Amino acid sequence: MNANLTSAYPTLIPLASLLPSQLATLGPASNNYEMIEKLFLSGADVFRLNFSHGSQEEKLELLNIIRSVEEKYSHPIAVLGDLQGPKLRVGEFSDPKGVYLEKDQRFVLDLNDAKGDNNRVKLPHPEIIAASEVGHILLIDDGKMKLTVVEKGDGWLGCNVDVPGQIKDRKGVNTPDSVLEISPLTPKDRSDLNYMLKIGVDWVALSFVQRASDIVEINELIDENLPEGMPRPSVMAKIEKPSCFLGNELSDIVDLCQGIMVARGDLGVECAPEDVPILQKTIIEECRLKGKPVVVATQMLESMIESPTPTRAEASDVATAIYDGADAIMLSAESAAGMYPVEAVTMQQRIINKVESDSGYMKLQESKASFDASEITKRPTVPILAITPFAETARQLSLSWGVYAAVTETEDDEFDLVLRSACRAALQKGLVSTPEDLLVVTAGLPFGTPGASNVIRVVPAAGPACWDGVCRID
Ligand code: PGA
Ligand code: MN
Repeated sequence: MNANLTSAYPTLIPLASLLPSQLATLGPASNNYEMIEKLFLSGADVFRLNFSHGSQEEKLELLNIIRSVEEKYSHPIAVLGDLQGPKLRVGEFSDPKGVYLEKDQRFVLDLNDAKGDNNRVKLPHPEIIAASEVGHILLIDDGKMKLTVVEKGDGWLGCNVDVPGQIKDRKGVNTPDSVLEISPLTPKDRSDLNYMLKIGVDWVALSFVQRASDIVEINELIDENLPEGMPRPSVMAKIEKPSCFLGNELSDIVDLCQGIMVARGDLGVECAPEDVPILQKTIIEECRLKGKPVVVATQMLESMIESPTPTRAEASDVATAIYDGADAIMLSAESAAGMYPVEAVTMQQRIINKVESDSGYMKLQESKASFDASEITKRPTVPILAITPFAETARQLSLSWGVYAAVTETEDDEFDLVLRSACRAALQKGLVSTPEDLLVVTAGLPFGTPGASNVIRVVPAAGPACWDGVCRID
């Protein structure tokens, strides 16, 4: 960057990445100011507050820390509140160590309150029993055990143990073969959602989405419960159930929400592992068609929970998600509970930077964008700077590929002032390197009218003072 410009408009923080963003999940390994600041400076654009763990009050403390880091660096940082969703679990066993299920033994899941033993355990979800048919598969403890329903009675399922293992109290149950007649939001989720609306998160993620109507339901709840004056959070659907791929569900889900997560953890339990790469590409492609941001999540750098460097396969997997066209990649336990949260964010950033520097990557993005220009929201290869007076809009955009958002202090309707802000922000963020670099500025006048883009101006980056041909900073 030109030396004069640099001193007049110091780059506030180096832009970690031009294109894909990073989400980092917070947890015991990272839930303090120092770590959050380090993770941000290493490349995290969005922090995930996982409501499956910890109290609501802890989440508010984290939100306040994130907002103060954002203020310190004058750079939008988004907060994603992740609802646990209807995570299904078995009941308790008489023996706290649980029991070992032998291969091909019979095991019954029922609605009986008595503690479990070698022959049976409570499954406190009548809706699973109702929706299960003979031949359906039930997976226990992230797929470690596999049962097949061989008999169905009134309020019980007789199962054959296909894959044996130790089953313990409250282990998770996945039901890949059935669409359950349950609300996507449990009472805990409703309470957590209200809390998120009250404290003002930027994104709300919904787990275990089964069908498009689930998104309708959360949108209605948000409309009904959003406290007056609070900004409306965007909704992200976590795709982790095979039922999302039936009929038109995926397309309808993408239409109804503002963002999508390829939640490979549960998706890889409910589907065969070999299906996951293809489903990842299918979901990303659908999101690209509709211009919705898509996050690829889970086990990105899994070995970095315990090791300071990733495996080659993990590095390749992160890069593949970016080549596939993901807008963002997410860390889970690596940043929340691992030994090397900063190293993991730094490593993902190194991989992002490397892929970005590959001319083949940009060509791939352009070619994907152009195969049917009439239908596709095109992914431009020039960075987009979004100028907004609203911090919440800037934060929500931090998930989108190639978009940098800057909050302008003024809400002034004067177009020239907004042009000036755009030039200043481009300089501050290091998006232009000489005063003669041109910005293409587009806007909808009057401001605040959705879909009313009606102005295009091409201006030198040095701003209005340069428009008469004399480049100087005013
Ligand atoms: P989770 O969601 O970490 O909340 O389970 C992500 C996933 O399943 O991949
Ligand atoms: Mn999940």
